[in-house]
Amino acid sequence: MSLSELQVLLVEDHGFQRRLGLRLLADLGLTRLLEAADGFQGLELLRSLPQPPDVVLVDLDMPGMDGVEFIGHVAQEHLARSIAVVSAMDPALLHTVQVMAKASGLRVLGAVEKPLSPGKLTHILSLYESSPVVVGNDDAVAVDFEQLRAAMANNEIFPHFQPQAEFANGKIVGVEALARWRLADGRMVPPSVFIPMVESGGMIEALTNHMLIESCRWSRKWREAGLEQLRISVNVSAHNLSGPEVADRYEAILREHGLAPEFVILEITESSVMSDTARGLGLLARLRLKGFGLSVDDFGTGYSSLTQLSQIPFTELKIDQGFVGGAPDQPRKRAVIETSLDLARKLDLSVVAEGVETMEEWQLLAQLGCDYAQGYLISQPVPGEMLPDAILRWRNTRH
Ligand code: C2E
Ligand code: MG
Ligand code: MG
Repeated sequence: MSLSELQVLLVEDHGFQRRLGLRLLADLGLTRLLEAADGFQGLELLRSLPQPPDVVLVDLDMPGMDGVEFIGHVAQEHLARSIAVVSAMDPALLHTVQVMAKASGLRVLGAVEKPLSPGKLTHILSLYESSPVVVGNDDAVAVDFEQLRAAMANNEIFPHFQPQAEFANGKIVGVEALARWRLADGRMVPPSVFIPMVESGGMIEALTNHMLIESCRWSRKWREAGLEQLRISVNVSAHNLSGPEVADRYEAILREHGLAPEFVILEITESSVMSDTARGLGLLARLRLKGFGLSVDDFGTGYSSLTQLSQIPFTELKIDQGFVGGAPDQPRKRAVIETSLDLARKLDLSVVAEGVETMEEWQLLAQLGCDYAQGYLISQPVPGEMLPDAILRWRNTRH
């Protein structure tokens, strides 16, 4: 799709600014333009469209309903394929918007500062084509609970594994298991779409058990293929932290499949731990006593205090990829990374940086004293049978 074919909605309260924006977009050859004078009008318009527009350009600073609230609704109701924010404000706001939108699978192209110009608009709109399309926001691949239940029953949801390298020497020491769902026609449904469905459909315990069993199975196969024992990280949802008996169940699964808990790290997102500290605490302590590692996932996107973090027996902290991507040229991100590393040192936690994509990011994190890297620079998540090759490829590209 060329730039001129994009359908764009501009939400801007200031009449003159709106006219100016639409004029600039039209000058770039765009003809499928929509406009709204505030968030309420924008939502009404979006809800009435047969298809979500490609890009919603939204002013953050609007009276009544501000841009952040507006984007929250758009993300929740899947009303757009992507959004870009127009703002002359604090760059930290963009991060908030990104985190909020990511949770619902909405793509955020970035921010454009006022005054708008043809160059700035071309740049932001061209990102629509270059960033990967998230399948699942599209009506054509909408999935329902029936499909999900069938996929779970037929083992059509399976793990991919993404390697983690030690900064000190580049050695692969662990992998993260990430759930994948491939439809019969080959298209993938992203976890951001199906994990919330699994949770609300009461199937999360079955999924976590399945991921644990598959991780044990692959761990044995890799050893048989001559790899050293790797640690495996498995994501656990807040819904899994239901009662203390969960710890016995996970331990039993591992024992049955011949893997020691010392090789398994359970990842819990920062926001889900903090949502129910008291109840989850006992379970987490029991898991730790049994030898499981415990990791705070997406660190920096929740609101945990030092006190809360120090009360939970975590062993690892994963810095969210939102802070890693672009950190070499963004002092604010670098500051968050430095503070996280400092905190981890004081609490004696090891630190994994998520989403390491470039050599510059690797160098910065290594220099700041981070322990492990995970990201596309090393490898994409791959099926179990391809892991030995992915490790070999990484080893061979390092020199
Ligand atoms: P997460 O646990 O934070 O996983 C990291 C996500 O970052 C993965 O997305 C991974 O593919 C992606 N990623 C890794 N390296 C890079 C990189 O260099 N650049 C970029 N842009 N992205 C990178 P994925 O697989 O789409 O998973 C999304 C989230 O879904 C996971 O975030 C996790 O919270 C959840 N999830 C995945 N599998 C499971 C599961 O089995 N159980 C539960 N409860 N949640 C899961
Ligand atoms: Mg994770
Ligand atoms: Mg994460």
